[in-house]
Amino acid sequence: MRKKVLITVAHRDDETIGCGGAIYRHYLKGDEVYCLSFTDGVSARDKVKKKDLKNRINSSIKASKILKFKWVENKKLFEDNKLDSYPLLDLVKVIEKVKNRINPDIVYTHYFNDLNVDHKAVSMATITAFRPLKKEKCKEILFFEIPSSTDYSPQDFVPNYFVEISKQWLLKKKALLAYGNEIKNQKTSRDLSSLKSFYEYRGNTVGLKMCESFFIFKKLSL
Ligand SMILES: [Zn+2]
Repeated sequence: MRKKVLITVAHRDDETIGCGGAIYRHYLKGDEVYCLSFTDGVSARDKVKKKDLKNRINSSIKASKILKFKWVENKKLFEDNKLDSYPLLDLVKVIEKVKNRINPDIVYTHYFNDLNVDHKAVSMATITAFRPLKKEKCKEILFFEIPSSTDYSPQDFVPNYFVEISKQWLLKKKALLAYGNEIKNQKTSRDLSSLKSFYEYRGNTVGLKMCESFFIFKKLSL
C-alpha cells in the first residue's frame, strides 16, 4: 500500500544527510514523500547574503528532484540557530497545519538529543504535533542522525533500525553534492568521504554493506 511520508528538518540539507537513501527507497515503493524545513539554513552565518539564501533554496530543489520528494511550502520561516528561542507551540502549529493536509503514515525527524539547538527543537515539536490523539493516523516516527551534530551530543545515538542504501548511495551523493559547500572538505564527520565510511560502518554493524540508521521512537501495528 502506498504510504505518505513526512520529513521535518531544521535546515535544508538535513533531509539528504539524515535519510536521503531512505527517501529514494520510499519513492521506489510508490510512497509520497514530503519535506518541511523550518529555517533558511544560512542566516546565522557571517553576513547574510541574499545570494546565499537563493543558492540554498536552489540546491534543495535540486536535491528534491534527485531523491524524488516534495518540499512543503513554509511561509513562516524561523531564524537559523535560534529555534530554541521560539515557543515550542509556534513550531508545533506549523507542523500541525502540514499534518492535517498530508496525513502522513510515517514521520522522520531529528534526534531529540542532538547537539544542534534547531535539530532538538524540531524533534520535540514533531513528537508533540504527532502525540497520540484519538484521530492520529501516523503509525511510525523515526529519528535520523546528522553527522557532526548528533555525534557531538554527550548522549549516544543508538540506532535500532537500518536501511540498506548501497544501491542508492550514488544518488544520495549527487544530492549531497547539490548542497556543495556543506559537505566538501570539511574535515568533520560530515565530509563526503567521512559520510561514506560512516554509512558503511553503520551497515557493517548489522552485516550489511551500507546503511542509514534510525532510532524508532514509535511504531504501531494495527
Ligand atoms: Zn541541520
